[in-house]
Amino acid sequence: MYNKEEILRLLQDNPKNEDITDFLNANDEQQNVLFKTAVEIKSKYVGNIVYFRGLIEYSNICGKNCKYCGIRKGNKKLSRYTMTEQEVIDAALYAYRANYASIALQAGELSSEKFVQKVTSILERINTETNNELGITLSLGEQNEETLKMWKEKLGIRRYLLRIESSNRELYEKIHPNDETHSYQKRLDTLKLLRKLNYQVGTGVMIGLPFQTVENLAEDILFFKALDVDMIGMGPYIEHSETPLYEYKDQLLPIDERYNLTLNMIAICRIMFKDINIVASTAMQAINPTGREAAIRAGANIIMPNLTPQKYRENYLLYQNKPCLNEDAQHCKKCLENRIELTGNTIGYGQWGDAGHYFSRQEQV
Ligand code: SAM
Ligand code: SF4
Repeated sequence: MYNKEEILRLLQDNPKNEDITDFLNANDEQQNVLFKTAVEIKSKYVGNIVYFRGLIEYSNICGKNCKYCGIRKGNKKLSRYTMTEQEVIDAALYAYRANYASIALQAGELSSEKFVQKVTSILERINTETNNELGITLSLGEQNEETLKMWKEKLGIRRYLLRIESSNRELYEKIHPNDETHSYQKRLDTLKLLRKLNYQVGTGVMIGLPFQTVENLAEDILFFKALDVDMIGMGPYIEHSETPLYEYKDQLLPIDERYNLTLNMIAICRIMFKDINIVASTAMQAINPTGREAAIRAGANIIMPNLTPQKYRENYLLYQNKPCLNEDAQHCKKCLENRIELTGNTIGYGQWGDAGHYFSRQEQV
């Protein structure tokens, strides 16, 4: 059993895969000490504040076939949608008026000229109608340099979330089709490109994937360190019956172990990376109704309340049992306020909540 000082020494002083693996396996009393240490670090470096990113699931049309994802191109049992420009603007204006200060625009991956133009026009309107006051995170998959540069430089978009899904190339190749559209190298190069373009770079992984070991997850954390990330968005893998990986459902870790491992991942990342942003993912809430609060108590500081119009939500099912399908934005806001208060945190209304880590890197340059 390690105490706080030993945890700090082992995790902050050039940790090795086996040190991280040890803490990933923490449970009971050791897990409590790990969380307590993470919360102290959080309080010291980012404060007891949770920032909102109003999540807009713009479209479930995707050109890819990731073997884990419910909205993959090959799932024919899904009705496909793209929100209208006005619907996206309305959702963004809801976030603006409710003082969320930030939104995240997410969709299946398309890179056609038409898609890029539509997104660009939407982003321009959001900027105009909110006096450039909304912080915008994009999560639109791999896009080329020209597009990413234009969104950054012309539209002032500052944050981009692109999960590596697994930093282990072999595992990545097992959970994706083996073709050019699903290249590990391209995912990695896009993350490097985002850094080169000076975005606040977010990445993450799924936890509890078939074939994944705890050592793989420790590798993932060392990958985040090497990439010097500003944000981490990670969550448990949850199986979906209309996907190829579903055939391995009986070989997965039990769902409560995936949940626990995710909490340990969050706590370890908070202790190691101190002033980055870490998301309490919706997938945690899919497993346990208070999963996001538990993530905050393990060191997370970002929540993404869903602003997608209700009529589309059941068609953006990445995994089964996705929560809040029937709740409107106003209801979500009230419910979240109560839940966050119980964790002893306040909501950073009206604040962008950019990662301090990004700014300290700028100062060093
Ligand atoms: N298409 C973009 C991309 O892949 O980066 C953004 C949208 S994608 C739906 C967002 C994230 O959903 C992925 O990065 C993946 O980690 C997560 N996801 C997909 N299927 C999942 C599953 N079965 N369980 C948990 N998370 C899943
Ligand atoms: Fe498409 Fe993203 Fe799902 Fe992969 S994870 S199938 S890119 S939406």
